[in-house]
Amino acid sequence: MSELRFKAVETAVSRLNRTETHEKTKPSLLFGKNVFTTAKMKEYLPKNAYEELLETVESGKSISHDLAEHISQAMKSWAISHGVTHYTHWFQPLTGATAEKHDAFFEPLPDGTAIDKFTASALVQQEPDASSFPSGGIRNTFEARGYTGWDPSSPAFIYETGGSKTLCIPTIFISYTGEALDYKAPLLKAINALDKAAVDVANFFDKSITKVNASLGIEQEYFLVDLALFNARPDLQLTGRTLFGHMSAKGQQLEDQYFGAIPERVLAFMVDLEQEALKLGIPLKTRHNEVAPSQFECAPMFEEINLAIDHNQLLLNLMEQVALRHKFKVLIHEKPYADINGSGKHNNWSMITNTGVNLLSPGKTPKTNLMFLTFFVNVIKAVHEHADLLRASIASAGNDHRLGANEAPPAIISIFLGSQLNAVLDEVETARVAKKVKNEALLWHGIPKIPELHLDNTDRNRTSPFAFTGNKFEFRAVGSASNSASPMTVLSAIVANQLIDFKTEVDKQIKKGTKKDLALLNVVRKYIKESKPIRFEGNGYSAEWEEEARKRGLSNIKTTPKALDVYVSDDTIAMFEKLEIFTRRESEARHEILLENYFKKIQIEARVIGEIVTSLVAPAAFNYQNVLIKNIKGLKELELNPEAYGSQLNLVERISNHINTILVDAEAMRQERKKANKLEDTCEKAVAYDTKVKPYFDKIRYHLNKLEQIVDDHQWPLPKLRELLFVR
Ligand code: ADP
Ligand code: MG
Repeated sequence: MSELRFKAVETAVSRLNRTETHEKTKPSLLFGKNVFTTAKMKEYLPKNAYEELLETVESGKSISHDLAEHISQAMKSWAISHGVTHYTHWFQPLTGATAEKHDAFFEPLPDGTAIDKFTASALVQQEPDASSFPSGGIRNTFEARGYTGWDPSSPAFIYETGGSKTLCIPTIFISYTGEALDYKAPLLKAINALDKAAVDVANFFDKSITKVNASLGIEQEYFLVDLALFNARPDLQLTGRTLFGHMSAKGQQLEDQYFGAIPERVLAFMVDLEQEALKLGIPLKTRHNEVAPSQFECAPMFEEINLAIDHNQLLLNLMEQVALRHKFKVLIHEKPYADINGSGKHNNWSMITNTGVNLLSPGKTPKTNLMFLTFFVNVIKAVHEHADLLRASIASAGNDHRLGANEAPPAIISIFLGSQLNAVLDEVETARVAKKVKNEALLWHGIPKIPELHLDNTDRNRTSPFAFTGNKFEFRAVGSASNSASPMTVLSAIVANQLIDFKTEVDKQIKKGTKKDLALLNVVRKYIKESKPIRFEGNGYSAEWEEEARKRGLSNIKTTPKALDVYVSDDTIAMFEKLEIFTRRESEARHEILLENYFKKIQIEARVIGEIVTSLVAPAAFNYQNVLIKNIKGLKELELNPEAYGSQLNLVERISNHINTILVDAEAMRQERKKANKLEDTCEKAVAYDTKVKPYFDKIRYHLNKLEQIVDDHQWPLPKLRELLFVR
C-alpha cells in the first residue's frame, strides 16, 4: 500500500513545473458569452415579445404562455447556434449538489427525418422523479413525482463539459403537492417577503422606492490538493476531509501564506477557472492565497442575491471540473485538515433600492442618516431576536469543525460594528430627544452626524461571525460547502419580519399624533437598547467571550443536531408561515432532512475510520513491529547488555499500545454505530451519532497520529499531511 503513496508523491512532484499556457482571452470579451442575457433576448425575440418580457419582469408578474413560447424559441435558436444539443432544468435539491437531467432537442418525425424541438411547456415545467431526492417525509412513495419550474429571474446558460454543450435552465424543485424540495423555492419567497417589507419602510423616507433587492457577494475559500495524492487518501475521497494525519512540522505558524505569491501551477488553474466563470457570467474578480498552506479564495463582484447564489453553485461545479484539467482536486469541505484553518463562505449582504441607494450605506444628510440607521438597526435587532435561527441555517457536520471548535468564527452569534458605528449607536441611544418636537430642525439634534466611513478603514474583526464592513454585513460563519440559500433565506426572513414589526410600531405612534421622523427615531432607539447584547467588538475566539456571552444570555450551540432544534420551534414555524416561506410541513421536513444528512455524514466517516484502521494502518504497524522484534532478537543473540536495545523494546511496546488502543476503540465505535442505527427517530439517531460515535474520532486520531510518527516512513501507507499540503 505504501507503494501507492510513493507513486502518488512522485506523480505530484512531476507535475510541479508543468504549467499549462493557454492563450487567454480578454475578460471583457468573454463575459456572459454562454448566458442568455437580456441583450441576447432582445436580439432573438420579436420586438413586442421583448417589450412584454421587460414589463413582466419589472412588475414581477408571471410570464404568459404566449410569451414563454416566444422565449423558448429564442432560447433554442440561440443555443443551437452555439452547437448545443441538449437542454436541462438545473435545480438545487437538498442534497447540497446541483441536479440536472438532459433531454435532446432532437425529435424524430414519422417520415424518417428529425427536427430540433423545444416548447414553452418544456421550458416552464418538467417532472423529474422526486423519489431519489431527500424529501423529509413529504413525498409519499405512491406519488413520487416532483416538478421543476422555470425561474425567469436567473438567466439560462450553456454549460460545456466533456466536449458537449447543454442549455441549462435554472428552476425551482417542488413536490407533487407543492412543497419545496430545494433551496431556491424558499429563497425566492424570502426575497419577496424582504422586498415588500423593506419597500414599506423605505417609503417612510422616499415614496419613489418601489423595489428593494438584496445584494450578495460570496467569498469562496477552498483547498487544492494534487489529484494523485488525493486518490491515495481514502478518507479524502469518501469524506472530503482527512480523518488522520500528524500535522507537518511546518503548518501555518510562519504566517507566510496569506496573500503570499500564488504557486505557478495554482495560478494556471485560477486563470483557467476565471475564464470559464466569466463565460457563464460569473463576475470573478478576486483571487488570493488564504491563511493555511494550499488554501485559496476567490470572490466575484456582488450581484442580486438569487443570481449570486446560482452563480456560487455553478462556480463550485466549475472549480471541480477545471481543477481536474490541472490534475488538482478541490476540497470545499469546511475542515479538510485538523490543526490548520478551515474554509468559509463569507456572505456579504446588503439591500439596494430601485433608485440605486444602498440601504446599509451611511448617508450624508440627517435624513438619509435616519434611513440608514433604520435599516442598520433593524438588521441588528433581527439578528438579536433570531440568532439561534441564523446559527441553525449554517449548521452542518462539516461546519461543526469550525463553529465552536478551536476555530472561529465561534458558534456564538454576535455582531461586530466597528468603533465608529458603535459610538454612533451609543450616541443615538443616549441622546436627549424632546418628546414633542415643534421645530423639525431640532429633531435632528438627536441624530449624530455619521462620520464618513472609508471602506478600507472600517475595522476588521476576523473573529466575528457577523460583521459590518462599511456598507454591508458580512456573515462569516457560513461554511465553505454550504448552499448560501439556506442562511440567506433565514436572513431575508428575519429582517423582513423585523421590518414589518418596525412599521407597525412606527405607524402606531404616528396614529397617536407623533411626528413621523420622531416616531422613527423613537423605535430605532428602542431597538438599539433591546439588541445591545448581540453587539460585541472583542475577540470572539477567547474563553472570556464564552463566559461573557453566557451572562448576556446569548446561545452557544456547538453541534448540529442541537442547533437544528429551533427550526421546529413554534415561533419559527409561525414566523415562516406568516411570511409564506415555509409551511409547518416544510419546516418539519427540512429539519428531518438536515438531521439525516448530519448522521449519514458521521456514519460514513466512522466507517472509513474503521476500514483504514484495520486494513491499512494496523498491517503497516504490525510489519514495522515485526522488523523491530527481529532486530531485538538478533541483538539478544549477540548477548549485548539489554540496555543497548532498550529504546527498540520501548518502541515495540509503544506500537503495541497504540495499535491495541485503536483496534479496541474502533470496535467499540462500531458497536455504538450499530446501536445508533437501531434508533427509529432521526433526531435521536443524529444525537447518538454526535455524542456516542463521534467522540471516538479524536481518540483514534490521536493514537494513529502517534503511530505515523513511529512507523518507518517507507512503510506508511497514507500520504502525509506535509505531502498533501506542500506538494502543489
Ligand atoms: P474581503 O476579503 O476584504 O472581505 P473581498 O474583496 O474578498 O473582501 O470580498 C468582498 C465581497 O463583498 C465582494 O464579493 C464584493 O463584491 C462584495 N460587496 C461589496 N459591496 C457589496 C454590497 N453592497 N452588497 C453585497 N456585497 C458587496
Ligand atoms: Mg476575503
